[in-house]
Amino acid sequence: MCIVFSLVCSREIPVMGKKNATRENKEKWEKFYDSVPELKYLSPNVRYEIRVKRIIDSRFDNFSEEKYQALYKQISDDIGYYLGYNVSLKDVGSEDIIHFFRKQRKVFKQPWFQYMIGQHFLHLDRDEDRRRLHKTIEKAVTDTPWEILKLYITDKEIKNKDIPAITEYFYSRFLTKYSAIGNIKGNVKYILRQGEYELTQHYTYWSAALYATSEADLFITNSIIAGADDQMPLYVINRGGITSGITENNLHNKFQGAIVLTLMPFISGDSYFNSARGNIYDSLLLPVISMMAVHEFGHLLHRYDEYYDLPATPQNAPVDLKYQDWYQHIIDGKMYSGPIRTLKKY
Ligand SMILES: [Zn+2]
Repeated sequence: MCIVFSLVCSREIPVMGKKNATRENKEKWEKFYDSVPELKYLSPNVRYEIRVKRIIDSRFDNFSEEKYQALYKQISDDIGYYLGYNVSLKDVGSEDIIHFFRKQRKVFKQPWFQYMIGQHFLHLDRDEDRRRLHKTIEKAVTDTPWEILKLYITDKEIKNKDIPAITEYFYSRFLTKYSAIGNIKGNVKYILRQGEYELTQHYTYWSAALYATSEADLFITNSIIAGADDQMPLYVINRGGITSGITENNLHNKFQGAIVLTLMPFISGDSYFNSARGNIYDSLLLPVISMMAVHEFGHLLHRYDEYYDLPATPQNAPVDLKYQDWYQHIIDGKMYSGPIRTLKKY
């Protein structure tokens, strides 16, 4: 018999916290991750079909059918041009975002994903998780060379090697942006991070879903990924938790990986984005989003690692939300053709 609202039989997306990150679950996570096969080489001499599924949050702006079709065309052309792979995008339908995530609840309840989500998801209304956020930022600052850190710092008073001052700088910037992002409005009265929707906007939940899905290779959502976790790299911290796209291991498809690409950071007319991102010219909107897709497909097809400081190439993650400047820099510069590190697992 079912106990109503329990983790076992609720139909809602299960909420995972530190209590789920037990030592037992951690061991299961490590075993699970070890068992994920290493990424194999994908020959560019084969034509690949990419199954693409749209995951829709109907509270927020979305593309028309024509725009989606034009985006698919742009992405497949750009993957050919920038990555040297011949691909076609095949639409396999669309689904409401809450429906999609509820459907994954068995996945989220696997002990290894309970650990992964419970360990990394930071609930910033809790003091303990705010302290963990501070530690996460301190670690990111300590691990990042000054040549890269200074790209993100506008305060000229802050000096190299002053780790505490740099940490405070990013910590307070993160909290300001994080709370501004939480107030981003959709159609009518909706804001981000309401109830169950918050979970659909979190890196860790998407990550677990991408591991387990057999429905598609590329997910495009008109929502956003914008939360706090203890694995954030500096460029995500700098954006207040926004991740434009994720490439994650996948247990079922031939690519051994799957991607989610988010549209909201590119198309939202909310004042937060108008000021943090600025205006993207209409004529450049699809090329800019497509360039972000090329970045993710560089991870997926070539198994490229993450970069922040290479010369002009889509493999550099954008420093902030100035996507159009990032795009223009790639287009205007002499394309980098040197070596790029690859990954054995995402
Ligand atoms: Zn990346």
